[in-house]
Amino acid sequence: MKTIGLIGGMSWESTQTYYRLINQKVREQLGGLHSAKLILYSVDFADIEPLQHAGDWAGTADILTEAAQALESAGADFIVLCTNTMHKVAPEIELAVNVPLLHIADATAKALQNDDIKAVGLLGTKFTMEQTFYRERIEDYGICVVVPDAKQRDRVHSVIFNELCLGETNKKSKADYLEIIDSLAHSGAEGVILGCTEIGLLINSSDTKVRLYDTTEIHAEQAVKFALGLSS
Ligand code: GLU
Repeated sequence: MKTIGLIGGMSWESTQTYYRLINQKVREQLGGLHSAKLILYSVDFADIEPLQHAGDWAGTADILTEAAQALESAGADFIVLCTNTMHKVAPEIELAVNVPLLHIADATAKALQNDDIKAVGLLGTKFTMEQTFYRERIEDYGICVVVPDAKQRDRVHSVIFNELCLGETNKKSKADYLEIIDSLAHSGAEGVILGCTEIGLLINSSDTKVRLYDTTEIHAEQAVKFALGLSS
């Protein structure tokens, strides 16, 4: 089994989901007392978030490349960055280490391809929904990406930073998310990417008929397959 290097803390609310899912999936595969070999480098999100909102992506890259290098030195065989948004600086991280980074958008696009999805809605932070680094990576797989309108994007973003990353869930936010998911389906999306690793704390597949792609779940699954040599 390969050793997984997790960069977490963005937020720690979703990192604990990664930790649980990865261990559960290793146990499903290997049985008994098996658990994942992993090293977690958890950053202080209060150092990262102001840099994101100031557009200082180079500043965030400095923190995350240091984390990735520390994981590599500690024996990680590959890196899993436990946030969609910070894949904005995936190229810088990849350049800084000699071990592979398992990109969350590639893992997600492969899951969409498996289900033959040609048009997909995307929920995430405004950085993820509005910038090109994530959307284009999915579109490279021949999948059309639809995002919510500007008012809806503000709402989705605000719930992530002001509630979910603080461990809060509330009914009104859940209802708003479900309405936005429906509107994406009406505009032609055959499924919706939960493209922020905390959204699964608010919404899951039993809440809607629209097919959901939870990036935390998909990424954790891919990490386990890679660690166990079940995928390349
Ligand atoms: N965890 C979130 C994501 O998947 C948002 C927090 C962040 O900005 O990193 O994008």
